Amino acid sequence: MKLIFLGPPGAGKGTLAAKAVEILTVPHISTGNIFRAAIAAKSPLGLKVKEILDSGKLVDDETTIGLVRERLAQDDARAGYILDGFPRTIPQAEALSGFSAVDKVLNFDIPDSGVVERLSGRRTCKKCGVNFHILFNKPEREGICDACGGELYTRDDDKAEAIRKRLQVYRDQTAPLIDFYREKGLLIDVDARPGIDEVVENFRKSLGV
Ligand code: ADP
Ligand code: ADP
Ligand code: ZN
Repeated sequence: MKLIFLGPPGAGKGTLAAKAVEILTVPHISTGNIFRAAIAAKSPLGLKVKEILDSGKLVDDETTIGLVRERLAQDDARAGYILDGFPRTIPQAEALSGFSAVDKVLNFDIPDSGVVERLSGRRTCKKCGVNFHILFNKPEREGICDACGGELYTRDDDKAEAIRKRLQVYRDQTAPLIDFYREKGLLIDVDARPGIDEVVENFRKSLGV
């Protein structure tokens, strides 16, 4: 199954994707994770995008589309994938339809207040990228990743000013994708407000998996 997870920052896309990959046995492809790994490795891509990510703006379409096109050409993505955080603009969505046929687009529905609450408490593993939350999804040991023992940190773009910027970017550039995919008959609305287990249950029901 080829899925897109569409929704504002902090809606819980990455968290649900981590559970959904086990249910569907497809890879989780997060453009944000790919950019952060490149930044950590100080690769040419990482050097180019670091300031953009810190500010909460979007990386340019050409770079992002090229990256996803290459990733989807790999063997493990042939039968299916979860695209998390891509597409984020109409040009990205149009480009994607030229190289892959998506089955469904899950639209994560959550008010801004929920986004702020989730992003301001998010803690991310420096080593493996897994996310926790200081109230809603606590690690067993404070500051330490359950999955790999890595150190947890607060992303620069999860600080108050960048959160506001990212919500605005979402409204201006990404929210138009909701109608874009609804008109194609691909959209499924998901209530992203409940706790993680309930969101997973709703996901299973809405896709029948
Ligand atoms: P979140 O999970 O909080 O929504 P992501 O990890 O998906 O955030 O993205 C972090 C940042 O990476 C974005 O603010 C943006 O700078 C960049 N980014 C990720 N995906 C894209 C994309 N499809 N197009 C442009 N920039 C992107
Ligand atoms: P996104 O990938 O959409 O940016 P994340 O999956 O990183 O969002 O989730 C944002 C934060 O909210 C994380 O700290 C995560 O632990 C927490 N979170 C995710 N889903 C839920 C949920 N259903 N209820 C409460 N907190 C959640
Ligand atoms: Zn980790």
